[in-house]
Amino acid sequence: MAKRVLICDDAAFMRMMIKDILTKNGYEIAAEAENGVKAVEKYNETKPDLVMMDITMPEMDGIQALKKIKESDASANIIMCSAMGQQAMVIESIQSGARDFIVKPFNQDRVLEAVKKAVG
Ligand SMILES: [Mg+2]
Repeated sequence: MAKRVLICDDAAFMRMMIKDILTKNGYEIAAEAENGVKAVEKYNETKPDLVMMDITMPEMDGIQALKKIKESDASANIIMCSAMGQQAMVIESIQSGARDFIVKPFNQDRVLEAVKKAVG
């Protein structure tokens, strides 16, 4: 069965780009979220196999959303999507239970490598 992924990013073009890479490679999109509050809601609604989580988002950032999701589901698989210069936030995310991180701008190989490592 295809693994289901929740895509969280406030930029529609980033969501589209991730969605495109994943659907072309046999993954299914569980839902999309444009801020951290929605990310937590959609996670609870859809219980995806994996979350791709942007760090900088309005309402609630990706780190807070990661912490909330991990609080309610310790087994959640979350990959952080960071921009250059966010090393401190990446470290905080990993310490808070993120599986991995990828740095924007993305390349398809790096996205797939991280996704495969996390959920196969
Ligand atoms: Mg963002």
